[in-house]
Amino acid sequence: MTQITSSPSKYIQGGGEIRKLGFYCSQLEAQGAYALIDPFILSLYGEEITQSCERHSVRLLQHEFRGECSLEQVHRIVAEAQAGGIDVIIGIGGGKTLDTAKAVSHFSSLPVVLVPTVASTDAPCSALSVLYTEDGRLDRYLPLRRSPDVVIADVDIIAKAPPRLLAAGMGDALSTYYEARACRRSGAVTQAGGSGSIAAFALAKACYDTLLEDGAEALRDCREGRSSDAVGRIVEANIYLSGIGFESGGLAAAHAIHNGLTLLEECRHVLHGEKVAFATLAQLMLEQAPPAEIDTVVDFCRMAGLPLTLSEMGLSGIPQERLAEAASASCAGDGPMSCMPFTVSPQQVLEAILAADKRGRQGV
Ligand SMILES: [Zn+2]
Repeated sequence: MTQITSSPSKYIQGGGEIRKLGFYCSQLEAQGAYALIDPFILSLYGEEITQSCERHSVRLLQHEFRGECSLEQVHRIVAEAQAGGIDVIIGIGGGKTLDTAKAVSHFSSLPVVLVPTVASTDAPCSALSVLYTEDGRLDRYLPLRRSPDVVIADVDIIAKAPPRLLAAGMGDALSTYYEARACRRSGAVTQAGGSGSIAAFALAKACYDTLLEDGAEALRDCREGRSSDAVGRIVEANIYLSGIGFESGGLAAAHAIHNGLTLLEECRHVLHGEKVAFATLAQLMLEQAPPAEIDTVVDFCRMAGLPLTLSEMGLSGIPQERLAEAASASCAGDGPMSCMPFTVSPQQVLEAILAADKRGRQGV
């Protein structure tokens, strides 16, 4: 069986790393950079980013990122970058900014440097962009030719982001070990295109251990806007360990159930990692996991303020037929549910969602 592990060429993490952006671009032998930057970050760090590139003789075109990560926008930027004689693409900001930068890199065959300014998902390290239509609906998943060249996590910036985002990233990262474990049991093909590796599974386990060890302290520090060692360890868990863990370890029921839940308008306001946290509990119900394991997940989610009940997901009183539709969607085609080590029916998913809700309501 082919085994594939994929990862960014370089993952850099520390405090104040954004000030070294020019240096990292110069290491790629870049002379001209096209940077997509979230408006809030541009207003705070635009000057420092410019100076850093000037110091290393990297000509910089800065563009405030607005709108959607749509194919139209991506092609517009590719044309601008090509006309501007650019040799590296930079994305600085949240998920859509980074996904746009990754897609621009894919279509222009230029290297990409990503600077996530929040740690709310494990997407930055992956070779995948999620594209939306201009009016904000999911368009398609774009598999990329290669993984990002450089990912730079500036812990000082991430520590100042809203704590709910860090907690959501912890929810996304919480599922990684359980999903990689399910894929290891089934021998499923992972997002990287082969079976899971020892390396990916070890990172998924390290991710899980780090969340339990440092999660509470990191959230406390983040609430005070304080960059600390604990925040740094959770940033590494949320972005890097979970990123490699999911891409090369595999996704399973938790993300399948998350995907099904996205059909329900009522929980649109619930963040990706928050839905994944609830869906992780549902996966454990599906697997009939040992009570001690379920208690650990419930304790962790309670500590992090992650949703564990339908009501906390904005779904109180939802008719069972609609939950059944979401359950059915989660089993569709050859999606991540097919990576489970046993066949899963929509009815079993519905029962697992209801069992997770019941356990969530029981409290710790
Ligand atoms: Zn995820």
